[in-house]
Amino acid sequence: MPFKRRLILVSNREPYSFKKGKVELSAGGLVTALDPVMQRTRGIWVAWGSGEKERDRAGKAEKVRVPPQKPAYTVKRVWLSHKQLENYYHGYSNRFLWPLCHIVLDRVYLKRAYWNDYKKVNRIFADAIVEEVRSKKAVVWLQDYHLAVCARYIKEKKPWLATTIFWHIPWPPYDVFRVCPQRREILEGMLANDLIGFQLDSFSRHFMDCASIELGADIGLREGVIYYKGHVTKVRDFPISVNFNWFEKCALSKRIKKFLEGIRKTRNLPADGKIGLGVDRLDYTKGLMKRLEIMDLFFSKYPRFRKKFTFIQVAVPTRKVEPFLSYRNRVEKRIDYINRKHGRQEWVPIIYIETKLDQKKLAMLYRIADIALISSVYDGMNLVAKEFIASQVDEDGVLLLSEFAGAAEEIPGATLINPYDIEGCADILRSALERPLEDRRHDMHMARNFVRGNDIFKWVDNILAEMETI
Ligand code: UDP
Repeated sequence: MPFKRRLILVSNREPYSFKKGKVELSAGGLVTALDPVMQRTRGIWVAWGSGEKERDRAGKAEKVRVPPQKPAYTVKRVWLSHKQLENYYHGYSNRFLWPLCHIVLDRVYLKRAYWNDYKKVNRIFADAIVEEVRSKKAVVWLQDYHLAVCARYIKEKKPWLATTIFWHIPWPPYDVFRVCPQRREILEGMLANDLIGFQLDSFSRHFMDCASIELGADIGLREGVIYYKGHVTKVRDFPISVNFNWFEKCALSKRIKKFLEGIRKTRNLPADGKIGLGVDRLDYTKGLMKRLEIMDLFFSKYPRFRKKFTFIQVAVPTRKVEPFLSYRNRVEKRIDYINRKHGRQEWVPIIYIETKLDQKKLAMLYRIADIALISSVYDGMNLVAKEFIASQVDEDGVLLLSEFAGAAEEIPGATLINPYDIEGCADILRSALERPLEDRRHDMHMARNFVRGNDIFKWVDNILAEMETI
């Protein structure tokens, strides 16, 4: 069904980068999937215009037509002061909501100023959105936990305007959410939307519980609706996905043989050795320390795998604030320890690549890996799991996937692990390395069929179709 409304998309990050006068589409599945929709519907994308310095250069030009070669829609860049950004983004969003929603309560950190600026910035976004509304056919689509109360400010000015939010991260159970001193305002802000999307049914149910217990809202569990103060909000789950065909195509690159040979040579990997892979932001929710404990135990318990199995960990430094900085330190130290303990001659058990790789290269790494290991302690979805599957064109790898990642509830053919059970994981890793090819093919084939049929474009279509009904 073609989408007929004017889409006002809102996210913290911009879909294009505007560095040094060069306009470039940002990498990533979400932008790739939404850019064509925006071009087709000639909508407007409102986002934080990253950085004061750029503002100076950009002067007052806060609207940019994109794509530069054939302008079809507008990016409206919202400017924030350094203090606002610190408090709203690094503070309330990333030091408070992120650990709270991922149930890492000892990392939860809150200051009053965080919340005050979070509200202020949500209002700035709302004002920028409202200015762009010209007809009742518009629909606003907010992205993620940075914008929890934005709909409320939008509705104060335009109560009839349809708004939707997609919450990319988990929504915790009420017993956890009640830690939030602003829980009423957050819930009321969310309920100002007409449609709320979560990754999983369990997150939708947690949210409905919170609305019922905290606000006394009426819940229609079966229909997935919440009635609150005369307003109806639909709650749906839309598990996000990846651009399957793109990853498959990159993995089929003619350079793959050379790529593998290059890695084996430069990294001293034996020709017959197997390769394990981890790809993550350096974020404590990804369970990297647990993964390293698994590796340490694995090589201690099964020393015959020394030189026969090498683990490549790609780690992307993220958010240059505490506690991410000290987490990075701990990870580096632990890898150093394991490599000294189990390494032999030129060979090291863990190859650590601390940089952001482009996704073409990732697709090739995903293809040559025999095992992908995802050990998140809690994760909304985990796209790496789906990208690995899309790139496994030989269908001979094994996905070891934490049962606490959203993807685990969806993907058939993944081998589930509990990252808190270090011994269990080490044993599962060993059996995955010894699994017969036929069994690996069977599982990977199933997983690939699933992700192929449920890619990022289907995700967008499903959400747009639901938006048409509000
Ligand atoms: N990624 C990347 N380069 C890297 C490592 C990761 O582009 O070196 C991308 C990866 O392809 C994936 C995303 O970062 O699309 C990570 O998404 P995921 O859902 O796994 O975790 P998140 O970081 O969103 O919590």
